[in-house]
Amino acid sequence: MSENLQKIGIERIQDLLFHLPLRYQDRTRLHPIGGLRHGQEAMIQGVVEHSEIVYRGRRMMICTLSDQSGMITLRFFYFSNAQQKDLKRGVTVSCFGEVRAGPKTLEMVHPEYRILRDGAKPPVLKDALTPIYPATKGLQQRSLLRLTDEALALSHTLDDLIPNEIAAKYQLSDLQQALQLLHRPTPDLSVEQLLQSRHPSQHRLIFEELLAHHLSLRKLREQAKKKRGVLLQADQYAKSSYVQRLLDSLPFSLTRAQQRVINEIQDDLAQAWPMNRLVQGDVGSGKTLVAAAAALSAIEAGFQAAIMAPTEILAEQHYKSFYSWLEPLGLTVTLVSGKQKTVERRAALDAIALGTSHLSIGTHALFQNEVKFAKLGLVIIDEQHRFGVDQRLSLLGKGRQQQGRKDYYPHQLIMTATPIPRTLAMTTYADMDYSLIDELPPGRTPIKTVVINNARRAEIIDRINDVCADGAQVYWVCTLIEESEALQCQNAEETWELLKEALPGLNIGLVHGRMKPDEKEAVMKDFKRGDINLLVATTVIEVGVDVPNASLMVIENAERLGLAQLHQLRGRVGRGSLASSCVLMYQTPLSQNARKRLEALRNSNDGFEIAKIDLEIRGPGEVFGTRQTGELQFQIADIIRDQHLLKPVQQAAQLILEKYPENVEPLIKRWIKHAEAYATV
Ligand code: ADP
Ligand code: MG
Repeated sequence: MSENLQKIGIERIQDLLFHLPLRYQDRTRLHPIGGLRHGQEAMIQGVVEHSEIVYRGRRMMICTLSDQSGMITLRFFYFSNAQQKDLKRGVTVSCFGEVRAGPKTLEMVHPEYRILRDGAKPPVLKDALTPIYPATKGLQQRSLLRLTDEALALSHTLDDLIPNEIAAKYQLSDLQQALQLLHRPTPDLSVEQLLQSRHPSQHRLIFEELLAHHLSLRKLREQAKKKRGVLLQADQYAKSSYVQRLLDSLPFSLTRAQQRVINEIQDDLAQAWPMNRLVQGDVGSGKTLVAAAAALSAIEAGFQAAIMAPTEILAEQHYKSFYSWLEPLGLTVTLVSGKQKTVERRAALDAIALGTSHLSIGTHALFQNEVKFAKLGLVIIDEQHRFGVDQRLSLLGKGRQQQGRKDYYPHQLIMTATPIPRTLAMTTYADMDYSLIDELPPGRTPIKTVVINNARRAEIIDRINDVCADGAQVYWVCTLIEESEALQCQNAEETWELLKEALPGLNIGLVHGRMKPDEKEAVMKDFKRGDINLLVATTVIEVGVDVPNASLMVIENAERLGLAQLHQLRGRVGRGSLASSCVLMYQTPLSQNARKRLEALRNSNDGFEIAKIDLEIRGPGEVFGTRQTGELQFQIADIIRDQHLLKPVQQAAQLILEKYPENVEPLIKRWIKHAEAYATV
């Protein structure tokens, strides 16, 4: 048992007390079936109207259950003969489970259920919310309940690490009381308030958790400043510098924002500690060139640079751009790719190890142990959306280099298009410095976005014909069906066949995630070269792909995607001087939120504006992807829902650092289980 406990970091009473319920289940009342909503967990009771075994790709049992207010489907993929006999027409059943939107009606998949035979007792309703703990293998909810009971009895031994002054200022309630209430909600409590995380006791602990995270990131940042970096000071403004020569060779000049960010980076590179900077810039804001300027500074100073891309397609594309920029300067660019032949790869690795390669480009393959750099000075990570503190640090650890007998860390630059508002960025990335490219290159005509019903496909097909007749190119994006990549690819293949029939005069390509890397690559190459007029793709093309001649993007079933993802996808067009448009096709019926999302895109091209609307649409309680919220793993805080606390938390952190520095370490330890691991990288 104690071994299992240690696995989730529970070594002391304090750890048990701060192992907070992940959520609560409401087993206090029966919900009328007609009033259920998607995503809700509820207790219901009804009569089985109909029950049958069907084959929909696989064998399953389906029952319809109704009460006076409505009906719902119960779906079972695994069931015994006994269950099949039990759940027959006419029996009364009580169920507890999560409500989902099924193909026709609301459903519960594998609910907990009890048959209420004549004379059987009705289901036992609890008098308070049931806490559900995040668990680990071999540790049951029941054991956790018992253990937390024991810990709660000793909770008076716990130190309150938030000084009174701060507690008063931010209206933080008593710690002990807060813990007691979150672990064991009392019946008199407002269920709604608790489920929406708005109870004062939750406020107290959410605040403390955010505070601990913020302090830990501040500490990381302090520690990073104590690490050894390399001075990459070079006279960037000298006419003969690589950067100037590259800029002179371009047909355009830098935007003011690009110039400012390049300067910020250059200042960092000239410091004795490793840079750790996040560059945020909307799609198409020209981050690649900023990366190039940084890389050239490192090279100018006699070091190597490395660029890591999230996909092979992007790595290859970067390789081409950088090759065309750097080769004329007499510099060597090397691609490290998973699909290279042994000989090729050997040659690439040798060049990197010998230092004859100045810039290497690849996916995470670049940071495998076999890749040894002669003199790595700068690591650039492009288009990172899902990139945790852990990963940031482990990369930094891997980048550790030797110069003579001393260890040093290369500078690190992370580029992302994920538009998160500034306060969020400052919190999520408080361990890093932050630059923003808040301007698009001139001469872009804004993308015109239209929203239309899937049923008007024929009109779109005519439009594609016209666009291609003018020599421009088109993307057609097929969206995800029910989280299944296989289905998505299948759907893309079918669409491809249909479009080939409908548009016989065009050369139509297909890329999806299930194709082999070299197949994908060949198609992308043809598209870039202009040999393919229309590219049918899954969302694999979401990130970074740059084909300025593409001027129309069609997204089918756009209502299935989130705002940020749609914005990313749309960013594949409007990259050149061509007037571009994006057609968002939707399937009726549209939910209210989906309608708002599509409207937001129609009305704005600004990633930050869109991010703001995204936050407004997704109210509290909705489940968030980790994609935009950054990567911080919180127990009870939710960085979007609780964003109004971020400013106060930053202020409180400052106060603690100044006046109560002895509380910093214990606070971090209390909330962040692997805090020590961070410190040792
Ligand atoms: P992202 O920020 O999305 O990575 P890219 O770096 O791919 O954007 O740049 C998008 C396009 O804009 C590229 O074709 C690039 O050559 C072009 N570009 C970059 N900077 C400028 C500039 N200052 N003026 C004009 N075009 C630019
Ligand atoms: Mg890019």
